[in-house]
Amino acid sequence: MREFTLDVPAPQKWGEGLVSVPEGESVLVDVRLESVHEGILATGRIETEYSGVCGRCLTDIVEPVEVEFQELFAYPEMEATDFGVQDDHVDLETLVRDATVLALPFQPVCQPDCPGLDAATGERLAVSTGTEQRTPLDSRWAALQQFTPDHDDEEPRN
Ligand SMILES: [Zn+2]
Repeated sequence: MREFTLDVPAPQKWGEGLVSVPEGESVLVDVRLESVHEGILATGRIETEYSGVCGRCLTDIVEPVEVEFQELFAYPEMEATDFGVQDDHVDLETLVRDATVLALPFQPVCQPDCPGLDAATGERLAVSTGTEQRTPLDSRWAALQQFTPDHDDEEPRN
C-alpha cells in the first residue's frame, strides 16, 4: 500500500455548467493505492475550488468543493473496466476530473436563500436591505400581483 498527497493544477477547465474548476486551479488529492488481486484500488479525497456565477442572481461565486472517490484500476489481463493499470502506472487524471465535475452543483447559489433578481428592476434582491427580504410574501401582498406586468415568459414564481 502507498499513500500520496498531490497538489496539482487543473490542466484545463473542468465543468461546463454555471460553475467550473478553472484551468490552473490548485487540486489537492490525497490518495491511497492498494494492491489487490484484480489490480490497484485507488481510494482518496479531492479538495479544490470552483468558481462561476450564482444561478439565481448571477453574482460571482468561489466555493470549496470536496469529493471522495474509490476506483479499481484493473490489470490488463483481468476483465475490462473503465480504468486500467498501464505499464505499472495508474493515471488518476480522468478519475479525479470526473469525480470533481460530478460534485459541482448544477444550480449553484451564492447563499442558500438567495432571493435572485428583482423581476422588474433586474437588481439583486439580496443586497437590498433588511430582514424583510427573507420572509416569504404574505397574503397582504397578493392583491398587488394583478398589477405586475405579464410574466408568462419567465420562470414561475414560488
Ligand atoms: Zn445569488
